[in-house]
Amino acid sequence: MKKNVALLFALSLFFASCTRRPDAGVGQTEITKWPGNRQAGISITYDDGTINQFTVARPIMNELGLPGTFYIITGKVPGSGKGQFLGRPTQEIVDETASLPTQSDNFFERASLIAYTGIPGAEAFHARAGSLFESGRYAEAYQLMDQAFELVRKGETISGPEYAEHVNPEDTTTWEDYRTYAAEGHEIASHTVTHARLAVLDEPNLRYELEQSKADIRKYLGEKYTFSAECPYGTENERVMDYAHEVYPSLRNRMPEPYLDELNRASKRNPGETDREYVQWQRGPLTNIGMDMMKTWVDTCLVHDNVWLVLVFHGVEGIGWEPRTGPELREYFTYIKERESRLWVATFADVTRYIRQRKGAVVTSTREGDDIHVTITQTLDTAIYNLPLTAKTYVPADWTSVILRIGPDGTDLQTLPVQQDANGSYVLYDITAGQGSRVLRAG
Ligand SMILES: [Zn+2]
Repeated sequence: MKKNVALLFALSLFFASCTRRPDAGVGQTEITKWPGNRQAGISITYDDGTINQFTVARPIMNELGLPGTFYIITGKVPGSGKGQFLGRPTQEIVDETASLPTQSDNFFERASLIAYTGIPGAEAFHARAGSLFESGRYAEAYQLMDQAFELVRKGETISGPEYAEHVNPEDTTTWEDYRTYAAEGHEIASHTVTHARLAVLDEPNLRYELEQSKADIRKYLGEKYTFSAECPYGTENERVMDYAHEVYPSLRNRMPEPYLDELNRASKRNPGETDREYVQWQRGPLTNIGMDMMKTWVDTCLVHDNVWLVLVFHGVEGIGWEPRTGPELREYFTYIKERESRLWVATFADVTRYIRQRKGAVVTSTREGDDIHVTITQTLDTAIYNLPLTAKTYVPADWTSVILRIGPDGTDLQTLPVQQDANGSYVLYDITAGQGSRVLRAG
């Protein structure tokens, strides 16, 4: 047994020395899968914009230097476009429900209107109809609308405020607050105007939920924050996805990239089962998910090289759906932070951008005298896709350290340590499209 191991070792040395001819592959450059040649990406995301996400979770993340992505319901932020019904006069639709039962051709209009009729549980009727529809239970969804409009016709309205599940009176975050949080490095992104079940809205109301939310984010926070969105209830409804992809470049619900596999929160597949170049692995740390399980998600990232773990948090410290406590979040985020040399913790937008830029980049390298010149070009819009990428370039075996310049006559940017892998000596450095070639020289 021992002999076999020794033989294998000798053979592997032999083959390694064969492939490691002097200067073979020098100049060969790739963009690493993750920044800094790390092994995985993690995005910490929050849905619904409930207050304790900002007053409890955010300060913990700030202390640890971790950025988050917050999908907010813009209609509940003062100054924004509110939820509203767009369409025919309400009375006309209500009158029609008396003689014409709900069916496929009038269901979306009715499901859009019902939330704004003021009957008890108006928004819940909308949400339940959406849930039934998305599970393929159409007849029950239509029947539910008939029941709801019967209440409307009877004139049943509620007195006083009724708070839906996703909007509660404690959520007092203002656009000024959000500007502060964005300046801290967090991503503020859209979770629509009212947290509607988009799959059962008709076109004008569906467009309003997506577009008004984007318009308000642009107005109060700027174009940068109009990049990502999460359509409520994690919907993957095809019709909704088609509209939403027109409005937002990046959806947590679903991404179109053929090289990216997606395991949603309900998926039982293991990220190791995919053969794609990247896999977005969403996990929901609901109230009763144990800390050990949550930590194994992080550990799983570290036994692969292609996992983008997307954590989906909701409630924090008693406010919001399936809440987690501050001490739990602190323990978990500290666990992630301790592994940061191998894990890239970044906003949803930044991970999307890095992956797309890397896939769209063309890298060329040439040897000119003693120098190696490396140039990167990309076809993506550099106004949005402007993250620095990490380049890995092989250098001659006798280089012990490397000086990096922009252009042959540029000033020294930095001295890079030379590292080794099975293919030879290499250096890692940042490179950004449109900023001139990088020049590597022995130093
Ligand atoms: Zn939500």
